Amino acid sequence: MKNAINQIAAKIVAGKAVVFTGAVYFDAFMSDKEARIKYWQQKMAMYDDLQKAKPNAAHSALAELYRHGHLSAVITQNIDGLHQEAGIATDDVIELHGSIRRVRCMSCNAISSDHDAFARVKAGDLTPECHCGGRNATAAVI
Ligand SMILES: [Zn+2]
Repeated sequence: MKNAINQIAAKIVAGKAVVFTGAVYFDAFMSDKEARIKYWQQKMAMYDDLQKAKPNAAHSALAELYRHGHLSAVITQNIDGLHQEAGIATDDVIELHGSIRRVRCMSCNAISSDHDAFARVKAGDLTPECHCGGRNATAAVI
């Protein structure tokens, strides 16, 4: 992993464009409304489960270490925001895969809370777009 990070950093520092791929689904998401409807339906199910999730003993233990000054940051692959809910400041949680608790516009990069987007889905807006007309997606890479 460290080798890959160093290699990526070297390519970025070199100043030429770097492309990150893997999201074959991206083209369909951007161009096909049915794909976006399916996407938001899947995220809605995840969102409902996430509302029930609470920090567990590990989250609480890390938050306790943080509160007592023994921990400066948490680096996590989790996308659930439970470290922040347990009490670690948002700026001190480094989310490698983003967070499902935020929504990002694929056009203007505006970030908003997931609550608004999912409230719109629940109200019948099956593909909650950004105010700029861009495609919104959860700010998580899974
Ligand atoms: Zn936008």
